[in-house]
Amino acid sequence: MAMNKLSIEDLDVKGKRVLMRVDFNVPQNEDGTVRDDTRIRAALRSINFVRERGGKLILMSHLGRPEDAKKAESEEEKAKILAANAKLTMDPIANKLREIVGGKVTKVNDIAGPEVEAAVAAMVPGDIVVLENTRFNKGETKNDAELSQKLAKLADVYVSDAFGSVHRAHSSTEGVTHYVRQSAAGFLVAKEMEYFNRVLHHPDRPLAAILGGAKVSDKIMLIEHLLDLVNVLIIGGGMAYTFMKAQGYEVGDSLLEADKLDVAKMLIAKAKEKGVALLLPEDTVVADAFSETANSRVVGLGGIEAGWQGLDIGPKTVEKFLNAIKTCKTVVWNGPVGVFEMDKFGVGTKAIAELLAASPGITSVIGGGDTAAAVNKYGLADKMSHVSTGGGASLEMLEGKDLPGLAALTNKV
Ligand code: AMP
Repeated sequence: MAMNKLSIEDLDVKGKRVLMRVDFNVPQNEDGTVRDDTRIRAALRSINFVRERGGKLILMSHLGRPEDAKKAESEEEKAKILAANAKLTMDPIANKLREIVGGKVTKVNDIAGPEVEAAVAAMVPGDIVVLENTRFNKGETKNDAELSQKLAKLADVYVSDAFGSVHRAHSSTEGVTHYVRQSAAGFLVAKEMEYFNRVLHHPDRPLAAILGGAKVSDKIMLIEHLLDLVNVLIIGGGMAYTFMKAQGYEVGDSLLEADKLDVAKMLIAKAKEKGVALLLPEDTVVADAFSETANSRVVGLGGIEAGWQGLDIGPKTVEKFLNAIKTCKTVVWNGPVGVFEMDKFGVGTKAIAELLAASPGITSVIGGGDTAAAVNKYGLADKMSHVSTGGGASLEMLEGKDLPGLAALTNKV
């Protein structure tokens, strides 16, 4: 998609009401307080930009997945749902934000309507109003037009800074943009767009994609789209075993999607046809159980016996993958190449992360979710060119889809 969208820096926010969608979907403690404020701090650049220029900032986010108490089948179940939902209020998050920014932060108990309108009317430049969890309103996930209009009524301009939600057409991410004068990308979203734009539209070549993770079925569209773009496609992780099996090698008890063997064959053929170097594992670390304490050993192609499962790429494969990566100028990575959550099976994933971290000449774009968790685990996130904050959104981006929350932003003229 074209990504010449307005950015927050193009907006004149002085004296204006700026409605900003942020990602304050933070990890919480048992009592609802904030356990990790990384996401709040990540939004500070956009927040401070508006406040320093005399804007009035209205922040909104979803938090967790509130459930509908009406679907409860008993009073007991209803009480349980209500108690769980109560923990998803934005109160503790607004408190944390107040602590961090030190300015006037008012939390309101609704996401639209009279209470919110009154609080907004009372704002002076530099103030912040935090709306309640957007998903407390059932219209949010339905992209309800009435709710979108109510949200838009609060604001002069809209800023999208929640990349993790831009693949969803919700009122706070998409609907609202139809009723405000200007919608722009905040700093976080602008950076995501810049890097994905680079990978998708004007990469320094050679361009490689490293794919891993559990399932082929989740990544078929991704692979198909990437085969049109990349010079090198590296496949590891659980999904590699379906490709191995498709080439006639036994995979023992490894993850296998038997109904995707034809798809795997088709993708291998397509890579050949397109001249894409497709690299698959040549050896595997197998274990006799899915456990850190399992017995493990390295086997070559065809060497995985019944009772054993492949949980990481083997040393020959690590070397082959690293050598290929070293020849590239741009690398996009989606999915760990082994079960990195267990150190014993994280060797391949760690080696790739370390190579990218040590290669300033390679633009490295890390898809969100598990891959971001992996580079964080190794303390290497800040050595990557870009670590995406959106797992689902980055996947859809690389699949070549139009993301509703980005498509809706105002085009630059
Ligand atoms: P995904 O959400 O599809 O990207 O999958 C990520 C998960 O795949 C991670 O939690 C990894 O532990 C897991 N994974 C990677 N390699 C393997 C493997 N060889 N066998 C089983 N799971 C794997």
